[in-house]
Amino acid sequence: MPKIFSKTQSVCPVCLKVIEASRAVGGDGNIYFLKTCPDHGDFSTLIWEGGIVEYLMWDTSAPKRDGPAAALPAERGCPYDCGLCEAHESSGCCVLLELTNRCNLRCPVCFASAGEGEARDLPLEEISAQYDMLMARGGPFNIQLSGGEPTMRDDLPEIIDLGLGKGFHFFQLNTNGLRLAEEPGYAEKLKAAGLSCVFLQFDGMDDKVYTALRGRPLLDVKLKAIDRCAAAGLGVVLVPVIAPEVNEDQVGSIIRFGLKNMPHVRGVHFQPVSYFGRCGLTAPATRITIPRMLRLIEAQTGGQMKAGDFGGGGAENPYCSFHASYMRRDDGGFMALPRPRSECCCTTSAEARDFVARQWSGREENAGLQECGMTETSSLDEFLEKARENTFAVSGMLFQDAWNLDLERLRRCYICEVDSERGMVPFCAYNLTDAGGRPLYRK
Ligand code: SF4
Ligand code: SF4
Ligand SMILES: [Zn+2]
Repeated sequence: MPKIFSKTQSVCPVCLKVIEASRAVGGDGNIYFLKTCPDHGDFSTLIWEGGIVEYLMWDTSAPKRDGPAAALPAERGCPYDCGLCEAHESSGCCVLLELTNRCNLRCPVCFASAGEGEARDLPLEEISAQYDMLMARGGPFNIQLSGGEPTMRDDLPEIIDLGLGKGFHFFQLNTNGLRLAEEPGYAEKLKAAGLSCVFLQFDGMDDKVYTALRGRPLLDVKLKAIDRCAAAGLGVVLVPVIAPEVNEDQVGSIIRFGLKNMPHVRGVHFQPVSYFGRCGLTAPATRITIPRMLRLIEAQTGGQMKAGDFGGGGAENPYCSFHASYMRRDDGGFMALPRPRSECCCTTSAEARDFVARQWSGREENAGLQECGMTETSSLDEFLEKARENTFAVSGMLFQDAWNLDLERLRRCYICEVDSERGMVPFCAYNLTDAGGRPLYRK
């Protein structure tokens, strides 16, 4: 019998009604999420491959919370009031603008189900109104230009320019890299427009992985895109989706590749696959959990990076993410940097926003950014610049789906999708679909 040790709320994966959920130690010692819908039965999902002590110790977050700057009323109860509503426990940090639903790939796995239905680009006037709404709700936030594939549009420089004019200053491009690779001068054009960094889909160093997850071999395209970004001075973060039995074996080679391509490659941000949107993978009999990701990293880097180097997020719920930073030593080896004390860095959305901007941007943009109130001097600038060039981040986010959605986690979400009607909708609520693929928010 599983031993229940704490309670929360979730939704039924079939009808998406809110139901009670329990966290429990299973017969195998791992942690499970248990819930029962009166109409659709019992559900049990693995959430942590490790013991209860390790699970509980992962939560080192400070109790400090910052709510939305301009909240909508909480009327129907979480997760049905997103906007953000007054029950939300974060003011937001990164916001995704879905600029188009068009895409030049047709990935079997896509949370946005891109390329389905009628092609639609978000009109510039609507983007402008979204920027205004974001400023009125606590902006400037870090902007993620997203899609579909945002580079399908020719007016990204204008969209960045529009945002700059309204007071936003960090723009991240979420892309598959095709256009960056194929169009000479495109990376320079985006850099000149004010793009801060590129979040590049990068699922492995083997074309079999791309064929499975993206529908065609793409490694050459990815390498070319990185070369073009490096030449343009754009920082790149490698973003691998990790799927059980597809590319778990790629974790170490992706990290090694990233380290070799510092400082243009700023880090790796893993996203274990979630079961929402267009997910051509079979239902989650096995799931990738935080401990499993950390074990893969440790084993496949030969112990150079250790599971103990990592901690959970401070601004978001700690069970949403993992993070460590490494410093390159003069002898070519690496050392883990101490994790920020939870009461010092990144416990609020604003601190998280600055941390993300600092960590992911290209080379010259961050000189002078201050750490935790230190005074700026030119020697400090030099030190920070050198430190940043030699710093590499390894992180990951475990998005939630209808099986493991924990409303305690969701209420602290700091990554929002922008919806012209609702406002700012936490990513995992916006992309939530039921077992039949029916969305809660996404149209
Ligand atoms: S996720 Fe946040 S914004 Fe959405 S309903 Fe829950 S508390 Fe409100
Ligand atoms: S996007 Fe999902 S996994 Fe990430 S912080 Fe928000 S709720 Fe947590
Ligand atoms: Zn149900």
